[in-house]
Amino acid sequence: LWATAERFDEAIRKSGHLFEDKELSDYLNGVLRKLYPAFGTMRIHVMQDPYFYAFTAPNGSIYINTGLLAKCDNEAQMATILAHEAAHFVNRHAYRSRLKEKKATGLATGVALIGIPIAPQLWAVSSVFGYSRELEREADMEGFKRLKAASYDLREAPKIFGYMLEELKIEDVREPVFFSSHPRVKERMESYESLAAENGVGSEGLLRREEYQKETERVYLASLQAELDLRRHKSLIQQLTGPERRPGITHLDYFLGQAYRQRAEAGDDAKAKECFLKVIEQAPDFAPTYYALGNLCYTNGDYSAAKDYLTTFLQKAPSNEQTTYARHYLQEIEKAGNKN
Ligand SMILES: [Zn+2]
Repeated sequence: LWATAERFDEAIRKSGHLFEDKELSDYLNGVLRKLYPAFGTMRIHVMQDPYFYAFTAPNGSIYINTGLLAKCDNEAQMATILAHEAAHFVNRHAYRSRLKEKKATGLATGVALIGIPIAPQLWAVSSVFGYSRELEREADMEGFKRLKAASYDLREAPKIFGYMLEELKIEDVREPVFFSSHPRVKERMESYESLAAENGVGSEGLLRREEYQKETERVYLASLQAELDLRRHKSLIQQLTGPERRPGITHLDYFLGQAYRQRAEAGDDAKAKECFLKVIEQAPDFAPTYYALGNLCYTNGDYSAAKDYLTTFLQKAPSNEQTTYARHYLQEIEKAGNKN
Protein backbone atom coordinates (compact mmCIF):
# COMPACT_ATOMS: atom_id res chain seq x y z
CA LEU A 1 0.00 0.00 0.00
CA TRP A 2 2.86 2.35 0.87
CA ALA A 3 4.53 1.69 -2.49
CA THR A 4 1.24 2.28 -4.34
CA ALA A 5 0.95 5.60 -2.55
CA GLU A 6 4.51 6.55 -3.49
CA ARG A 7 3.77 5.73 -7.14
CA PHE A 8 0.65 7.85 -6.89
CA ASP A 9 2.67 10.82 -5.55
CA GLU A 10 5.02 10.43 -8.49
CA ALA A 11 2.19 10.24 -11.05
CA ILE A 12 0.55 13.37 -9.65
CA ARG A 13 3.84 15.24 -9.66
CA LYS A 14 4.40 14.38 -13.33
CA SER A 15 0.81 15.11 -14.38
CA GLY A 16 1.10 18.86 -13.86
CA HIS A 17 -2.01 18.85 -11.67
CA LEU A 18 -0.23 20.19 -8.63
CA PHE A 19 -0.59 23.83 -7.70
CA GLU A 20 3.06 24.60 -7.09
CA ASP A 21 3.59 27.51 -4.77
CA LYS A 22 6.44 27.29 -2.30
CA GLU A 23 5.10 29.97 0.03
CA LEU A 24 1.66 28.39 0.20
CA SER A 25 3.14 24.96 0.73
CA ASP A 26 5.35 26.21 3.58
CA TYR A 27 2.35 27.85 5.19
CA LEU A 28 0.12 24.76 4.96
CA ASN A 29 2.84 22.44 6.20
CA GLY A 30 3.39 24.89 9.07
CA VAL A 31 -0.26 24.54 10.11
CA LEU A 32 0.07 20.77 9.90
CA ARG A 33 3.13 20.88 12.23
CA LYS A 34 1.16 22.94 14.73
CA LEU A 35 -1.53 20.25 14.77
CA TYR A 36 0.76 17.21 14.71
CA PRO A 37 4.19 18.28 15.99
CA ALA A 38 5.44 14.69 16.26
CA PHE A 39 4.62 13.57 12.71
CA GLY A 40 7.24 15.16 10.49
CA THR A 41 6.83 12.73 7.60
CA MET A 42 3.40 13.98 6.53
CA ARG A 43 3.37 16.30 3.52
CA ILE A 44 0.67 18.47 2.01
CA HIS A 45 0.18 18.70 -1.74
CA VAL A 46 -2.21 21.16 -3.35
CA MET A 47 -4.14 19.79 -6.30
CA GLN A 48 -5.46 22.06 -9.06
CA ASP A 49 -9.10 21.15 -8.91
CA PRO A 50 -12.06 23.37 -8.05
CA TYR A 51 -14.03 20.62 -6.30
CA PHE A 52 -14.26 20.72 -2.53
CA TYR A 53 -12.15 17.72 -1.70
CA ALA A 54 -9.20 16.40 0.26
CA PHE A 55 -7.78 12.98 0.94
CA THR A 56 -4.89 11.27 2.64
CA ALA A 57 -2.72 8.59 1.10
CA PRO A 58 -1.40 5.75 3.27
CA ASN A 59 2.16 7.16 3.11
CA GLY A 60 1.17 10.42 4.80
CA SER A 61 0.69 12.51 1.67
CA ILE A 62 -2.29 14.77 2.19
CA TYR A 63 -3.90 16.10 -0.97
CA ILE A 64 -6.00 19.25 -0.75
CA ASN A 65 -7.83 20.74 -3.71
CA THR A 66 -7.47 24.38 -4.61
CA GLY A 67 -11.29 24.55 -4.49
CA LEU A 68 -11.29 23.55 -0.84
CA LEU A 69 -8.64 26.09 0.14
CA ALA A 70 -10.54 28.76 -1.77
CA LYS A 71 -13.77 28.07 0.06
CA CYS A 72 -12.35 28.05 3.58
CA ASP A 73 -12.85 31.41 5.20
CA ASN A 74 -10.09 31.16 7.79
CA GLU A 75 -7.26 29.04 9.11
CA ALA A 76 -9.43 27.35 11.75
CA GLN A 77 -11.66 25.91 9.02
CA MET A 78 -8.77 24.70 6.90
CA ALA A 79 -7.11 23.24 9.99
CA THR A 80 -10.30 21.27 10.65
CA ILE A 81 -9.89 19.43 7.36
CA LEU A 82 -6.15 18.97 7.89
CA ALA A 83 -6.61 17.66 11.42
CA HIS A 84 -9.23 15.15 10.25
CA GLU A 85 -7.20 14.00 7.24
CA ALA A 86 -3.96 13.63 9.15
CA ALA A 87 -5.78 11.61 11.81
CA HIS A 88 -6.43 8.90 9.20
CA PHE A 89 -2.68 8.60 8.68
CA VAL A 90 -1.66 8.90 12.32
CA ASN A 91 -4.16 6.24 13.36
CA ARG A 92 -3.18 4.01 10.44
CA HIS A 93 -6.72 3.81 9.06
CA ALA A 94 -5.59 2.72 5.62
CA TYR A 95 -4.12 -0.42 7.09
CA ARG A 96 -7.00 -1.07 9.43
CA SER A 97 -9.81 -0.81 6.90
CA ARG A 98 -10.80 -3.32 4.30
CA LEU A 99 -11.46 -2.61 0.69
CA LYS A 100 -15.11 -2.82 -0.21
CA GLU A 101 -15.98 -3.58 -3.81
CA LYS A 102 -18.83 -1.11 -3.93
CA LYS A 103 -16.73 1.76 -2.66
CA ALA A 104 -13.99 1.07 -5.16
CA THR A 105 -16.47 1.32 -8.02
CA GLY A 106 -17.70 4.71 -6.86
CA LEU A 107 -14.19 5.96 -6.35
CA ALA A 108 -12.96 4.85 -9.74
CA THR A 109 -14.98 7.75 -11.16
CA GLY A 110 -13.32 10.08 -8.69
CA VAL A 111 -10.08 9.23 -10.38
CA ALA A 112 -11.42 10.53 -13.68
CA LEU A 113 -11.86 13.97 -12.09
CA ILE A 114 -8.13 14.53 -12.24
CA GLY A 115 -7.58 12.21 -15.18
CA ILE A 116 -4.96 10.02 -13.60
CA PRO A 117 -5.41 6.29 -13.33
CA ILE A 118 -4.94 5.22 -9.74
CA ALA A 119 -5.23 1.79 -8.22
CA PRO A 120 -8.77 1.69 -6.76
CA GLN A 121 -7.51 0.06 -3.57
CA LEU A 122 -5.54 3.22 -2.89
CA TRP A 123 -8.54 5.43 -3.44
CA ALA A 124 -10.82 3.24 -1.40
CA VAL A 125 -8.62 3.64 1.64
CA SER A 126 -7.55 7.21 1.18
CA SER A 127 -10.67 9.18 0.39
CA VAL A 128 -12.31 11.57 2.82
CA PHE A 129 -15.35 9.34 2.62
CA GLY A 130 -13.73 6.00 2.01
CA TYR A 131 -13.49 4.80 5.57
CA SER A 132 -15.99 3.08 7.75
CA ARG A 133 -18.28 5.09 9.96
CA GLU A 134 -16.25 4.14 13.06
CA LEU A 135 -12.92 5.22 11.57
CA GLU A 136 -14.42 8.49 10.32
CA ARG A 137 -15.77 9.20 13.76
CA GLU A 138 -12.38 8.37 15.25
CA ALA A 139 -10.73 10.82 12.84
CA ASP A 140 -13.24 13.48 13.89
CA MET A 141 -12.38 12.96 17.55
CA GLU A 142 -8.64 12.93 16.99
CA GLY A 143 -8.92 15.98 14.76
CA PHE A 144 -11.05 17.81 17.29
CA LYS A 145 -8.51 17.08 20.03
CA ARG A 146 -5.71 18.46 17.85
CA LEU A 147 -7.64 21.61 16.97
CA LYS A 148 -8.28 22.20 20.63
CA ALA A 149 -4.62 21.66 21.58
CA ALA A 150 -3.58 24.15 18.88
CA SER A 151 -6.13 26.67 20.28
CA TYR A 152 -8.27 26.98 17.18
CA ASP A 153 -11.83 28.26 17.35
CA LEU A 154 -13.75 24.99 17.50
CA ARG A 155 -17.01 26.53 16.36
CA GLU A 156 -15.59 26.75 12.83
CA ALA A 157 -15.35 22.98 12.38
CA PRO A 158 -19.00 22.17 11.57
CA LYS A 159 -19.19 25.18 9.23
CA ILE A 160 -16.70 23.77 6.79
CA PHE A 161 -18.79 20.64 6.27
CA GLY A 162 -21.78 22.92 5.83
CA TYR A 163 -19.97 24.53 2.88
CA MET A 164 -19.42 21.08 1.39
CA LEU A 165 -23.13 20.31 1.64
CA GLU A 166 -23.92 23.66 0.06
CA GLU A 167 -21.64 22.88 -2.87
CA LEU A 168 -23.30 19.52 -3.39
CA LYS A 169 -26.67 21.24 -3.44
CA ILE A 170 -25.98 24.11 -5.84
CA GLU A 171 -23.89 22.32 -8.42
CA ASP A 172 -25.63 19.63 -10.39
CA VAL A 173 -22.85 17.30 -9.48
CA ARG A 174 -23.06 14.09 -11.44
CA GLU A 175 -19.99 12.29 -10.20
CA PRO A 176 -21.20 9.26 -8.27
CA VAL A 177 -18.49 9.78 -5.69
CA PHE A 178 -20.11 13.05 -4.70
CA PHE A 179 -23.61 11.64 -4.64
CA SER A 180 -22.60 8.71 -2.52
CA SER A 181 -20.63 10.95 -0.21
CA HIS A 182 -23.51 13.32 0.47
CA PRO A 183 -24.84 11.64 3.64
CA ARG A 184 -21.29 11.28 4.88
CA VAL A 185 -20.71 15.02 4.76
CA LYS A 186 -23.83 15.53 6.84
CA GLU A 187 -22.49 12.97 9.30
CA ARG A 188 -19.21 14.86 9.63
CA MET A 189 -21.03 18.10 10.26
CA GLU A 190 -23.21 16.56 12.96
CA SER A 191 -20.24 14.78 14.46
CA TYR A 192 -18.35 18.07 14.94
CA GLU A 193 -21.47 19.78 16.22
CA SER A 194 -21.87 17.16 18.92
CA LEU A 195 -18.15 17.23 19.78
CA ALA A 196 -18.43 20.97 20.23
CA ALA A 197 -21.51 20.57 22.43
CA GLU A 198 -19.94 17.79 24.56
CA ASN A 199 -16.85 19.90 25.13
CA GLY A 200 -18.80 23.02 26.04
CA VAL A 201 -17.03 25.03 23.36
CA GLY A 202 -17.00 28.73 24.13
CA SER A 203 -16.29 31.76 22.04
CA GLU A 204 -12.53 31.72 22.38
CA GLY A 205 -9.99 30.40 19.95
CA LEU A 206 -7.93 31.31 16.92
CA LEU A 207 -9.51 32.09 13.58
CA ARG A 208 -6.54 33.67 11.81
CA ARG A 209 -8.77 34.93 9.05
CA GLU A 210 -6.63 37.74 7.62
CA GLU A 211 -3.45 35.67 7.61
CA TYR A 212 -5.27 32.80 5.94
CA GLN A 213 -6.80 34.95 3.23
CA LYS A 214 -3.45 36.59 2.52
CA GLU A 215 -1.60 33.27 2.32
CA THR A 216 -4.21 31.73 0.03
CA GLU A 217 -5.02 34.68 -2.23
CA ARG A 218 -3.21 33.26 -5.27
CA VAL A 219 -4.87 29.89 -4.87
CA TYR A 220 -8.24 31.60 -4.36
CA LEU A 221 -7.95 33.52 -7.64
CA ALA A 222 -6.69 30.44 -9.48
CA SER A 223 -9.68 28.51 -8.20
CA LEU A 224 -12.13 31.18 -9.41
CA GLN A 225 -10.51 31.02 -12.84
CA ALA A 226 -10.74 27.22 -12.83
CA GLU A 227 -14.43 27.43 -11.99
CA LEU A 228 -14.93 29.81 -14.92
CA ASP A 229 -13.09 27.40 -17.20
CA LEU A 230 -15.44 24.63 -16.09
CA ARG A 231 -18.48 26.92 -16.48
CA ARG A 232 -19.43 26.52 -12.82
CA HIS A 233 -21.33 29.80 -12.85
CA LYS A 234 -23.79 28.80 -10.13
CA SER A 235 -20.99 28.15 -7.70
CA LEU A 236 -19.23 31.39 -8.69
CA ILE A 237 -22.32 33.57 -8.35
CA GLN A 238 -23.04 32.04 -4.95
CA GLN A 239 -19.47 32.60 -3.73
CA LEU A 240 -19.14 36.13 -5.05
CA THR A 241 -22.50 37.54 -4.01
CA GLY A 242 -22.75 35.91 -0.59
CA PRO A 243 -21.02 36.38 2.76
CA GLU A 244 -18.14 34.11 1.67
CA ARG A 245 -16.91 36.74 -0.80
CA ARG A 246 -13.42 37.76 0.24
CA PRO A 247 -12.88 41.46 0.92
CA GLY A 248 -10.09 43.62 -0.42
CA ILE A 249 -9.49 42.07 -3.85
CA THR A 250 -10.21 44.74 -6.45
CA HIS A 251 -10.95 42.59 -9.50
CA LEU A 252 -13.32 39.97 -8.03
CA ASP A 253 -16.22 41.37 -10.03
CA TYR A 254 -14.45 40.29 -13.19
CA PHE A 255 -15.18 36.68 -12.23
CA LEU A 256 -18.72 37.55 -11.20
CA GLY A 257 -19.34 39.33 -14.51
CA GLN A 258 -18.02 36.34 -16.46
CA ALA A 259 -20.25 34.03 -14.40
CA TYR A 260 -23.32 36.14 -15.32
CA ARG A 261 -22.34 35.89 -18.96
CA GLN A 262 -22.12 32.12 -18.68
CA ARG A 263 -25.49 31.89 -16.95
CA ALA A 264 -27.03 34.10 -19.67
CA GLU A 265 -30.44 34.61 -18.12
CA ALA A 266 -32.53 37.69 -18.93
CA GLY A 267 -30.71 40.76 -17.63
CA ASP A 268 -27.42 38.96 -17.05
CA ASP A 269 -25.58 40.87 -19.79
CA ALA A 270 -26.45 44.14 -18.07
CA LYS A 271 -25.29 42.75 -14.71
CA ALA A 272 -22.06 41.57 -16.30
CA LYS A 273 -21.43 44.96 -17.83
CA GLU A 274 -21.96 46.65 -14.50
CA CYS A 275 -19.45 44.28 -12.88
CA PHE A 276 -16.82 44.87 -15.55
CA LEU A 277 -17.20 48.66 -15.38
CA LYS A 278 -16.71 48.50 -11.62
CA VAL A 279 -13.48 46.55 -12.10
CA ILE A 280 -12.18 49.09 -14.64
CA GLU A 281 -12.70 51.74 -11.99
CA GLN A 282 -11.08 49.80 -9.14
CA ALA A 283 -8.41 47.83 -10.98
CA PRO A 284 -7.76 49.69 -14.24
CA ASP A 285 -4.66 47.64 -15.04
CA PHE A 286 -6.38 44.26 -14.89
CA ALA A 287 -6.39 43.61 -18.64
CA PRO A 288 -8.89 40.71 -18.96
CA THR A 289 -11.78 43.04 -18.05
CA TYR A 290 -11.27 45.03 -21.26
CA TYR A 291 -11.40 41.85 -23.29
CA ALA A 292 -14.53 40.74 -21.47
CA LEU A 293 -16.22 44.10 -22.13
CA GLY A 294 -15.07 44.14 -25.74
CA ASN A 295 -16.46 40.67 -26.21
CA LEU A 296 -19.76 41.63 -24.58
CA CYS A 297 -20.17 44.74 -26.75
CA TYR A 298 -19.17 42.80 -29.87
CA THR A 299 -21.79 40.12 -29.18
CA ASN A 300 -24.43 42.80 -28.73
CA GLY A 301 -23.48 44.49 -32.01
CA ASP A 302 -21.99 47.60 -30.41
CA TYR A 303 -18.90 47.55 -32.60
CA SER A 304 -17.50 50.96 -31.83
CA ALA A 305 -17.42 50.34 -28.06
CA ALA A 306 -16.06 46.84 -28.72
CA LYS A 307 -13.26 48.34 -30.79
CA ASP A 308 -12.26 50.73 -27.99
CA TYR A 309 -12.20 48.04 -25.30
CA LEU A 310 -10.35 45.51 -27.42
CA THR A 311 -7.76 48.09 -28.43
CA THR A 312 -7.19 49.01 -24.77
CA PHE A 313 -6.97 45.32 -23.96
CA LEU A 314 -4.21 44.81 -26.53
CA GLN A 315 -2.28 47.74 -25.08
CA LYS A 316 -2.46 46.32 -21.56
CA ALA A 317 -2.29 42.57 -21.98
CA PRO A 318 0.73 40.38 -22.48
CA SER A 319 0.46 38.29 -25.61
CA ASN A 320 -1.67 35.17 -25.06
CA GLU A 321 -4.62 33.26 -26.43
CA GLN A 322 -6.98 36.13 -25.63
CA THR A 323 -4.92 38.66 -27.58
CA THR A 324 -5.20 36.42 -30.64
CA TYR A 325 -8.99 36.42 -30.28
CA ALA A 326 -9.03 40.17 -29.69
CA ARG A 327 -7.16 40.78 -32.95
CA HIS A 328 -9.59 38.50 -34.74
CA TYR A 329 -12.59 40.46 -33.41
CA LEU A 330 -10.97 43.74 -34.41
CA GLN A 331 -10.49 42.45 -37.96
CA GLU A 332 -14.14 41.39 -38.09
CA ILE A 333 -15.21 44.84 -36.90
CA GLU A 334 -12.98 46.37 -39.56
CA LYS A 335 -14.60 44.21 -42.25
CA ALA A 336 -18.10 45.05 -41.04
CA GLY A 337 -17.18 48.74 -41.09
CA ASN A 338 -15.92 48.56 -44.68
CA LYS A 339 -19.20 47.07 -45.83
CA ASN A 340 -21.23 50.04 -44.52
ZN1 LIG B 1 -12.21 11.02 6.90
